[in-house]
Amino acid sequence: MQEQFDVVIIGGGPGGYVAAIRAAQLKMKVALIEKEHLGGICLNWGCIPTKALLKVSEMYHAMKHCDVFGLSVKDASFDMKKVVEYSRSVSEKLQSGVTSLMKKNGVTVFRGFGRLMGSGKVAIDGEKAYVLAAKNIILATGARPREITALNIDGKNVWNYKHALMPGALPKKLLVVGSGAIGVEFASFYSAMGSDVTICEVGGRIMSNEDEEVSALAHKCFERRGIKILTKTEVLGTTSSSSMVEVKIRNSDGDVIKEKFDKVISAVGIVANLENIGLEKTKAKVEKGVMKVDKYLRTDEPNLYAIGDVAAAPWLAHKASHEGVVAVEHMAGLKPHPINQLNIPACTYTMPQIASIGLTEAKAKEQGHAIKIGKFPLYANGKAIAIHETDGFIKTVMDTKTGELLGAHMIGAEVTEMIQGLAIAKTLEATEAELIHTIFPHPTVSESIHESVLDVFNRAIHI
Ligand SMILES: Cc1cc2nc3c(=O)[nH]c(=O)nc-3n(C[C@H](O)[C@H](O)[C@H](O)COP(=O)(O)OP(=O)(O)OC[C@H]3O[C@@H](n4cnc5c(N)ncnc54)[C@H](O)[C@@H]3O)c2cc1C
Repeated sequence: MQEQFDVVIIGGGPGGYVAAIRAAQLKMKVALIEKEHLGGICLNWGCIPTKALLKVSEMYHAMKHCDVFGLSVKDASFDMKKVVEYSRSVSEKLQSGVTSLMKKNGVTVFRGFGRLMGSGKVAIDGEKAYVLAAKNIILATGARPREITALNIDGKNVWNYKHALMPGALPKKLLVVGSGAIGVEFASFYSAMGSDVTICEVGGRIMSNEDEEVSALAHKCFERRGIKILTKTEVLGTTSSSSMVEVKIRNSDGDVIKEKFDKVISAVGIVANLENIGLEKTKAKVEKGVMKVDKYLRTDEPNLYAIGDVAAAPWLAHKASHEGVVAVEHMAGLKPHPINQLNIPACTYTMPQIASIGLTEAKAKEQGHAIKIGKFPLYANGKAIAIHETDGFIKTVMDTKTGELLGAHMIGAEVTEMIQGLAIAKTLEATEAELIHTIFPHPTVSESIHESVLDVFNRAIHI
């Protein structure tokens, strides 16, 4: 069977399914091919189930430390099977939500493995084999966990993120290799639930994409919560036995040591899913392990677009979805705004939370901007004090010449919700004058954004 579509999308993650909905809104005839679960990694194995687990761990942590509020909880405990069931149920709910959205928007969903055949054709290898003809094709095949030879992921003692989302029991002693957002979120979850957690990072500091001051405070806060952090430390190999795993580590002094853990989580990045998808049948190019695309997400093959994790960093769901919209609107002949990488917010849902947008202080200087910095600590914010979460600060990076907001870097309570205010500001190219003129509601942690900008001019009120 060969059916004709306006657009065929390969991959039903947040890139692919959002592109499908936008295309349907623009009256295109849309096919979406998914080999596994609608919603992709984000809904099933990424953003969503991790946030469900992290919420559980925050509540558990709060139950154990609630005496400061005059509360007491005796014998706080948990059932890991039920905790995992809760997290999986959230993913399932959202997955069925995406299925309904596909139906509602008239998107034809094909189950199977999509493969480019060249000349605007896509083969689907599934229970039934299909060939679809398409005016436009979007590759949204996402990414999978990166594997390194030093870490033999066996699913028993050495886990990737999928295994780490479904623990059979709480590991007593856990090593997390890699300190990007995924690594520190798992460290935060397991540590709050009671594991003895060590983070091992080969670089000089944790969360190296974040502003140095944010990464330094995160390090301090994580250590205060009992997480051990080893930087400039490399894992050289693992030897699994039935009940534990011995890890060979080169420490920051260059010494090679061995240490035993119950479990190891590999969080050393991801690789784009580019294999066996028929790229050789097209002119599309791969650069540095991801699809080469232009600002409208076009590959070098006419009418073939690539979006999301398969296209490039940052590996974030909202970036994938937004790219889906830009690609579809471009193929529909509209004039979408290309994505400005500096306007993509990034959030990490640890305790304390971390959120950022735009240039860090170091990057801004590196790029030759003359800058002014404002900073406001949460210990001086009324709401943060009231909720007993005073670790953190808001840092704003402003351009001295133009007054434009170049970047914002936050660590502390609720900053993953607050960053959106500055994402709007950045998109509107807001200046310090406009941010200062903005009225922030009281009492909120977000008032610290205002104070941070005021601090650029030594005008902060509450410090
Ligand atoms: C543990 C973890 C936590 C995360 N937390 C966050 C977070 O808090 N916030 C955030 O923004 N991002 C987070 N991410 C990243 C986020 O999940 C990804 O950036 C996002 O899912 C990328 O979307 P995508 O559509 O490009 O690809 P994916 O979500 O990977 O979807 C691709 C889909 O394509 C399918 N597919 C692949 N090849 C084929 C083929 N040939 N034929 C048919 N189907 C195919 C796959 O089965 C998959 O369903 C997290 C990731 C992980 C692993």
